[in-house]
Amino acid sequence: MSINPLANPKGVKLNCELCSKPALLFCTKCRVTYYCDTEHQNIDWIGIHEKICELLIPLKSPITSTCNSEEEREQLKKLKVKRQKDLVYLTRTAGQKLLFEGKYEYAIPAAMQSLKISIEIYGLNSIELVLSYLILGEACIGLRRLTQAEEYLSQAKWTVTKTPDCTPDILSKLHRNLGLLHATKQEYKEALRNLSEDVFYASTFFGTHNIRTSGGYFHMANVFYAQNKLEVAFSLYQQITTIWFDHLSLLVAQRTRQPPPPVGIGPAQYEVERKDYDNLDEAEAAEALLVLNSILEMRSKQTSPSPLIMMELLMALSMLYFVQENYYEAMEYSKDATTFSKKISNLEESKRKSLEDLYKAIETRL
Ligand SMILES: [Zn+2]
Ligand SMILES: [Zn+2]
Repeated sequence: MSINPLANPKGVKLNCELCSKPALLFCTKCRVTYYCDTEHQNIDWIGIHEKICELLIPLKSPITSTCNSEEEREQLKKLKVKRQKDLVYLTRTAGQKLLFEGKYEYAIPAAMQSLKISIEIYGLNSIELVLSYLILGEACIGLRRLTQAEEYLSQAKWTVTKTPDCTPDILSKLHRNLGLLHATKQEYKEALRNLSEDVFYASTFFGTHNIRTSGGYFHMANVFYAQNKLEVAFSLYQQITTIWFDHLSLLVAQRTRQPPPPVGIGPAQYEVERKDYDNLDEAEAAEALLVLNSILEMRSKQTSPSPLIMMELLMALSMLYFVQENYYEAMEYSKDATTFSKKISNLEESKRKSLEDLYKAIETRL
């Protein structure tokens, strides 16, 4: 990161990227991003700027293109919008990931950036802004700035109300955040009402047994746990574990599947299929880690957790590290899962085999 005192060009007012106060510094790498002080530059750098510094140059620099045909200008415009949309995805995912990691302060600049670019592309009233508001809201909840969180959430709510064809995935996320806000204020009844709305909308969009729906169950379970309704809480935690277990099993299977035998004579020609959507994005990976670790922590506090439940939980964690190609961690959790498996007298053959296969798959990659 570079810091430079800012020589303000005449007549141009420059503002801090984070707080909009008059800027005194600028990033010497991209030269198009300004800050009021080094602290704000630091937070922005860690939160998002490091990832997007160079990507901002073509977006923020004034267009000095020499092209004059209508067609060329149209193409440049299209390219710019594409770059902006990519940047929205990148900054949003980064913000979401930071939330799952509990790094709320750094999630703010990432979400701010996604909000700014979304406004540039879609205007102020677009439904496309809602996800950014929600990340900002959740970051503020995490930082216990509840009044500010409420402002962002009501902004999101207002935009949703104005959009009659709003899709269920957005409605689910809005209610998830409202649920989280109420839970933080210990308004458990309202929290649960919003979270069941969340689960309802997510289920219609993604299905009930889906990782995108499981986030709602997780917050619900936490509310029951906070109210000491442990039986309901743990039954939900189990449901969430199974959803992640099944999802991760598929991802592992895709990575360990034997390629089909080559046909005919000559050099073998086959490719192992691997598609982009077969991967967890960085926010999903961070969510899985948070959710599975919190459940593990709560399970470990129980006097005698069921060995089968513990085995599945540890296997899910092992698979999570496996798909992230962190085979050492994967092996550790796989060993722990094996320890629990030995305490189960009537372990199903299929489960014993899938644990064995996982263990072997990790071993060959170490
Ligand atoms: Zn500032
Ligand atoms: Zn920069």
